[in-house]
Amino acid sequence: MNTENAVRVRFAPSPTGYLHVGGLRTALYNYLFARKNNGVFVLRIEDTDRTRYVEGAVENLIQTLRWAGLEFDEGPEKGGPKGPYIQSDRIALYQEHARRLLEEGKAYYAFDTPEELDEMRKLQEKTQAPLKYDRRALMLSAQEVQQKLAAGVPAVVRLRVPDATTVAFDDLIRGRVEFSSDQIDDQVLLKSDGYPTYHLANVVDDHLMGITHVIRGEEWLSSTPKHVLLYQYFGWEVPQFAHLPLLLNPDKSKLSKRQGDVAVEDYRSKGYLREAIINFVAFLGWNPGDEREMFTLEDLVKEFSLERVGKSGAIFNVEKLDWLNFQHLRRKPDTEVLAMLREHLKQSSLANRNFDDAYLLSVIGAMGERVTFVRDFVEKSGYFFQAPNRYDPDVLKKRWKPDTPQKLRRLIEEFSLLENPQREDYESALLRVARSLELKNSELIHPLRLAVSGVGAGPGLYDILFILGKEETHRRVVSAIERLSQLT
Ligand code: GLU
Repeated sequence: MNTENAVRVRFAPSPTGYLHVGGLRTALYNYLFARKNNGVFVLRIEDTDRTRYVEGAVENLIQTLRWAGLEFDEGPEKGGPKGPYIQSDRIALYQEHARRLLEEGKAYYAFDTPEELDEMRKLQEKTQAPLKYDRRALMLSAQEVQQKLAAGVPAVVRLRVPDATTVAFDDLIRGRVEFSSDQIDDQVLLKSDGYPTYHLANVVDDHLMGITHVIRGEEWLSSTPKHVLLYQYFGWEVPQFAHLPLLLNPDKSKLSKRQGDVAVEDYRSKGYLREAIINFVAFLGWNPGDEREMFTLEDLVKEFSLERVGKSGAIFNVEKLDWLNFQHLRRKPDTEVLAMLREHLKQSSLANRNFDDAYLLSVIGAMGERVTFVRDFVEKSGYFFQAPNRYDPDVLKKRWKPDTPQKLRRLIEEFSLLENPQREDYESALLRVARSLELKNSELIHPLRLAVSGVGAGPGLYDILFILGKEETHRRVVSAIERLSQLT
C-alpha cells in the first residue's frame, strides 16, 4: 500500500502547551486526507524555538489528538522509518544542510548584533525602505568571514534570495500564488546557537520524511516562497501545498485567545463530546456541498476532499458547536450515555449516592431530548438525584394556593392505593381525584410537579412520578406540604 509515491502528510505543531482548535483542524484535514488516499499521517514536533519550550507539551498534544480519534501512523512514541520525529533530535541534519547551502553560495554568514539590526530597521522605517535585511554581510570578503568565524563572533546563516525573479507555486486551495523575490527577506536559516529556524527545519524534514502534501493554515502562506526557494536550492521536488482558510470570530476578527477559548482541552473539560468537536472543526473551511451537517469521523473520511475547502475565512460559531453536541449526544446509545453520566456523577457532589443502572437509564430516557451536555442531566433535572431543597418562587406564587395542601394530600392517598403503578396509573389516579374534587386537572398537575421537582418545567409529570417511584413521590409531596405550608 505505502509505495514510494503514496500520499504522506504531516501535522507539525510547535509544543506550546495546548492544542489550538485551529491546530486540531489542520490535524483533522491531514488525517482525513491521508485516510481517504490510503496514505500515511505523520506527527512531527517542531520544537526548535527553545524560548517557547513547555514541559509536558508533547505528551499533552499526543493525548489530545488520540482523544479526538486522530491516531497518527508515524511520530514520537510510535516511531517509524523516517524518524526521529522531534526536531530537537535532528539538529545535526539541519546544520549539515545549512552547510551545503553555504558551500554552494545559496546562503551566507551574517554577524550583525541585535542592536545593529534594530538600528537598520529603524532607518528603513524612517526612509520608508522595504523592511528586510540589507545584506551588509555580503560586503565582507571571504577572508573577513573566515576571520570572524575563527574568532568566534556569533554568526547566523541567511538564505540568499535571488534578485528580481518571481517565486511561484500552485496551491490546491488558492490556485497559483506568486511572490516577487524582491519582497522576500534573506531569512535566517540557522541561528547563532546552531539551532535552525522553522523554515529550514520544516523544509529539510518535509523532504526527508517524504511528505507529498503540505496542508497547513493560511498564516504560513507568506513563508511558502522561502520554502519553495529552499526546495529549488536543494534540488528537491516541491510538495503540493494546501493553505487552509483563517479561523475568524463571529465579528470577523482573527480567532484569538482574548475572545474565548481556543484550546481543545478547554472545550473537552466543558463537556463537549469528541464527536461534536470533530464535526464542528471539519466544517471550519470544508462543507459537503449539500445540506447535511451531522458527520462522524468515519463519514468524514469517506466524504472529505480538499476541493471542497474554501478560501474565505471560516467563522467560529460556538452556538453551532452546542447544537452539534446536542445532536451527537442524542444519537449515542443510552448505555454509552450511562457510562458518561456515571463518570460525571463520580466527579460531582453526588459521588457518594448510589443509583442503579435501570434508574439512570430511565432518567436518560426522560431527559434525552432536553440535554446538550451530560452535566445537564444533573443541572437541568437535579430532582432525579436529590429531593428539591428549594421551590421556584415564581411557580410557587402562581401555582400554590392555600387549599393546595389538602388537595395534594387527597392525591397521595389515592396514589398509595396503587400497586406497582405505571405512568398511566398515576395519570388515571390524578384524573379520578380531580373529578371527585371537581377540579381542573391542572390544579393538581402544577402543584404536584412543583412538590416533586421544585420547578415548573421538565419531562412529562407522569414520567417523573414513575421514575421517582411511589414512596419517593409520597415523601416529596409530604415534605413540600410541610415546608410550603410554613411559607404561605
Ligand atoms: N510548526 C508550525 C506550526 O506550529 C508548522 C507549520 C507548518 O505546518 O508548516 O504550526
